[in-house]
Amino acid sequence: MWALTTVLAAAAGGLHVAAVGPLAPLQVPLRLPVWVLATLFALAEASVFHVSFRRHVHSRSMSEVPLVLGLVFARPDELVLAHLTGSALALLLHRRQPVLKASFNLAVFWLEACTAIVLYRWLLGGGTPVTPRGWSAALAAALLATWALRALAVPLAISVYEGRWQPHIFRWVLVASMVATVTNTSLALLAVTILWFQPAAVWFVAVVAVVMSCAYRGYGSWRQRHDSLERLHELTRIDEPMPTEAMARTLLEQARDLLQAEIAEVVLTAPRGNRPSLSLALGPDDRFREPRGAPLIEVVEGRRAVLARRNPSTPALRAFLHARALKDAMVVPLSGKGGALGTLLVGNRLGDVSTFGVWDLKLFETLANHASMALENSALIDRLRQEAADREHQALHDSLTGLPNRGLFHEQVQAAIAADVTGARVAVMLIDLDRFKDVNDTLGHHTGDRLLQQIGARIRDALRPCDSIARLGGDEFAVLLPAVAGAVAVRVAERIRARLCQPFDVDDMLLQVGGSIGIALAPDHGHSSSILLRCADVAMYHAKLSQSGVELYAPERDQYSPRRLTLVCELQAAIAGSGLAVHYQPQAELRTGRVVGVEALVRWHHPVHGPIAPDEFIPLAEQAGLIRGLTRYVLRCVLQQCQRWRSTGVDLTVAVNLSVRNLLDLELPDEVARLLVEFQVPARMLRLEITESCMMTDPRRTEEVLAKLRGMGVSLAIDDFGTGYSSLSSLGRLPVDEIKIDRSFVTKMLSAASDAVIVRSTIDLARNLGLRVVAEGVEDRATWNRLVTLGCDVAQGYYLSHPVTIARLDDWLRTRASQPVIPTAATWGAGG
Ligand code: C2E
Ligand code: CA
Ligand code: CA
Repeated sequence: MWALTTVLAAAAGGLHVAAVGPLAPLQVPLRLPVWVLATLFALAEASVFHVSFRRHVHSRSMSEVPLVLGLVFARPDELVLAHLTGSALALLLHRRQPVLKASFNLAVFWLEACTAIVLYRWLLGGGTPVTPRGWSAALAAALLATWALRALAVPLAISVYEGRWQPHIFRWVLVASMVATVTNTSLALLAVTILWFQPAAVWFVAVVAVVMSCAYRGYGSWRQRHDSLERLHELTRIDEPMPTEAMARTLLEQARDLLQAEIAEVVLTAPRGNRPSLSLALGPDDRFREPRGAPLIEVVEGRRAVLARRNPSTPALRAFLHARALKDAMVVPLSGKGGALGTLLVGNRLGDVSTFGVWDLKLFETLANHASMALENSALIDRLRQEAADREHQALHDSLTGLPNRGLFHEQVQAAIAADVTGARVAVMLIDLDRFKDVNDTLGHHTGDRLLQQIGARIRDALRPCDSIARLGGDEFAVLLPAVAGAVAVRVAERIRARLCQPFDVDDMLLQVGGSIGIALAPDHGHSSSILLRCADVAMYHAKLSQSGVELYAPERDQYSPRRLTLVCELQAAIAGSGLAVHYQPQAELRTGRVVGVEALVRWHHPVHGPIAPDEFIPLAEQAGLIRGLTRYVLRCVLQQCQRWRSTGVDLTVAVNLSVRNLLDLELPDEVARLLVEFQVPARMLRLEITESCMMTDPRRTEEVLAKLRGMGVSLAIDDFGTGYSSLSSLGRLPVDEIKIDRSFVTKMLSAASDAVIVRSTIDLARNLGLRVVAEGVEDRATWNRLVTLGCDVAQGYYLSHPVTIARLDDWLRTRASQPVIPTAATWGAGG
């Protein structure tokens, strides 16, 4: 700007010395003194009016009037002097322009005066000013000097000041000033002519000049209002919904432009409470930042608009403007249906002399009303977005621990596999807590929940920041190690397990839980998250069974195959849809041949594969976690049948097989009790068969379950006796009533001496312990007879009957009632 000013001043100085200096004054009837001219220039510059264009405000004066008067009635030097001194006074004292801006303007005026003088004299030649030639010369000089020169210099200055070239300003200044220049020059020529011939009449011209000046100013502000209203109308039409922050930015731009202010600020208060939830300011450099000071408290609390003009008389307003380093300002409240939303401020009206007025305040309030509505809509949008985000979070996280859930964990694993760090492995761990159910059952869900939260945090602590942990449900957690070696994964798992084994302090109680962890690795064991999780589950199951705590997946131990996986789904459907059948195999007293009971054996007739042996699908159900449902299903069928028999006077004990996982289920006794009540079957009619291996997995827990069942009056039998490794000593402690010698010994007891020994000693042992002995797998008369001599109590086997459907069993029972008590031949074929 200084450079531009210097160039202009140099040009003016050169022109002055070379062309203006040597000129002689014109021959005129009167001469205007310098002070009169200077006063006229000062008046002209002091009473400027404003023409605005977007954010630019151009000040226009009537300085052509003293200029043309000076061209005719003053010495050239004196005209330049009067123009510069008069204008300088007005710019610096009245309009308080900064030195740089005033210097620039004065340089323009100097150049303008010199150009006008030189042009005028050249066009006038030797003529008289008050002839058509003289008038044309003055008009042309004024047009070229003031209009053309300013039209070039002002946009140039704005472009330099704002640092970018803005050609559109040229067009605007050109058009806006031309009309004014022609009008002002005409008025000046009228004054010249009157002064020349009849100086006393110059007062009339003065009056016209004053009226014109007022008209200009009136037109200027009318234009401005019109423009503002038009823009306000445009603004209020934009009601495209957007989030609060974006809306606040748009609002600031609108307010600043609409009210021709240098800065605009918005402060939004949080609903309930005066703490700002958002505060944003827009400065003259078009950048958004934090506002520097607090908003006017009056406005926030009193909910009324405040207008602080330049140099306000109220001390409070003066202090406010001073504190914020503002020339003038307006603050309006933003309020919606639910109360105050915040405040909006604009400050530093553009243009040297203009300030905010009452009309601007009204305009601002209108904008604020519209903005309040838009901001309320924005708040609604914010809330909807937040709710959507919350819902997404909820959908992907466990509400109790805040950890990712199964769905998100799958995604994370899939992403880790896709990330493909060469040479590294992706490890997936499945952690199953050992004694969590005890805690939940004995201390309540509240304690259980707190414990789970602590467990989640403790596992997290054992991991690197890049690892993830998820809660898959119940007491099952999963961990993802994105890039590790297999051995490291095992070490991490052992670390987690060690931490889980340390007691947890929940509600002032020290709780001891442990965990079993299974690990699967990608790409070694699979390429998809579901396969990895399944492998980790198999490994975890092994860790639990072997009580090793941590196991890496070993394919050779996994009995899953695609066929088995499909079977799991189909089995699940069969259990849920009553697709399983229960067959019954009778048991008879050896001595008398009287039928005393039946064993229930589940059957699955697969629609494609035909009958599937229980030995294949029972382990499947155990591994897939379906055994609980299966057992419940069988119990229902059996107890219902028992109820029917009892109603027809048939009194048979029914035996149901349990598997390992049933005995770990602390809810089983209650469930059995419920079913007994439902079908009105006395507990003594039900016998539950368990294998020795069952009791080895978690003796403390199984014993608890068994004791409860026994306490209810349900009788218990040890199935497949002789195949397990149970110590004979533990037999005495167990609350059982019956031992079933495994069929593998019974079927061969007549041919193999060792089997005969086992059968005999088992019978002896049982008798000594006061337990009933059942021989399974009795296939012929000879075996039957031998067992009678050995003192065995009950026989079960093909010799008596295969397991059969209930209809065939009923037939069999009826026929038997009319036949010899001890069967002479196995007359019944393979059942089912
Ligand atoms: P288990 O409890 O030892 O059942 C006796 C098995 O021996 C039955 O096989 C039966 O058909 C068979 N059997 C009966 N008499 C003779 C005989 O004289 N000679 C020979 N060689 N075998 C005989 P099944 O029905 O195939 O059942 C196999 C196993 O499946 C059962 O062995 C039991 O452990 C399990 N199982 C069957 N039903 C259920 C159930 O409802 N729940 C549970 N948890 N397991 C079941
Ligand atoms: Ca059995
Ligand atoms: Ca058995």
